[in-house]
Amino acid sequence: MLFDILTLFPGLFSGVFDESIVRRAIEAGIISIRIHNIRDYAEGRHSITDDAPYGGGGGMVMKPEPIFGAVEHVLGSQGQQTVAEAGARVILLSPQGMPLTQQMACELSRQEHLVLVCGRYEGVDERIREHLITDEISIGDYVLSGGEIPAMVVIEAVTRLIPGVLGDPGATFEDSHMEGLLEYPHYTRPVEYRGWEVPEVLLSGDHALVVQWRREQALRRTLERRPELLRKARLSERDMEFLRSLGADV
Ligand code: SAM
Repeated sequence: MLFDILTLFPGLFSGVFDESIVRRAIEAGIISIRIHNIRDYAEGRHSITDDAPYGGGGGMVMKPEPIFGAVEHVLGSQGQQTVAEAGARVILLSPQGMPLTQQMACELSRQEHLVLVCGRYEGVDERIREHLITDEISIGDYVLSGGEIPAMVVIEAVTRLIPGVLGDPGATFEDSHMEGLLEYPHYTRPVEYRGWEVPEVLLSGDHALVVQWRREQALRRTLERRPELLRKARLSERDMEFLRSLGADV
């Protein structure tokens, strides 16, 4: 998969992709990440990328020409129709976008090319959103100063879901939010730490019992922390019985 990042602050990305799973995915040739400075696509001697808002008010707005120019350059295209033809998703990071979810990350992990547009200041000229962008993604209901960290979040969430990136292909199956539940708790050696012991069932060697305990822990944890998730989770009759035994109304 190819990620093209469009930003006014390319330096913010230095080092971020040089470690751990994303780096390994790059080295294995599973993903490539290209970073483009929007300023390189600005016209004129001063390479201006933003301007005052029509209608007045504070703050600056990112101009359309450099962002259209940058997207069309990375897609090798001219205009909206060929953006669609190129088969790429042109994503604007925005607090007004669809909230990023694990399901969305799974869907994006099946794409071949994602272009990530990082806003700054008051955001981008509305004509960019209307005529260039295919998706708007928010990483939460709060406002950051720029789309760079949200772009990193999207890349991290998507990359680990691409087949071949994680050593164990089943590693993500039980992750929180994959099936609508939070994941069960984990323990490792030592078996006793400061008097706190690992639950006995995990030492029993009885695989079926461990699977059942983990399922119940995931259900309990979701009920305690994020009960609203249970409404959309895929639950068996046995799951519901267990939840009812905890007092849940399912
Ligand atoms: N004035 C805009 C509004 O109220 O919707 C906020 C602009 S924000 C200061 C500047 C840029 O940061 C946005 O264009 C966007 O790219 C990015 N940004 C801020 N918060 C974000 C979030 N929660 N998710 C994704 N991107 C965000």
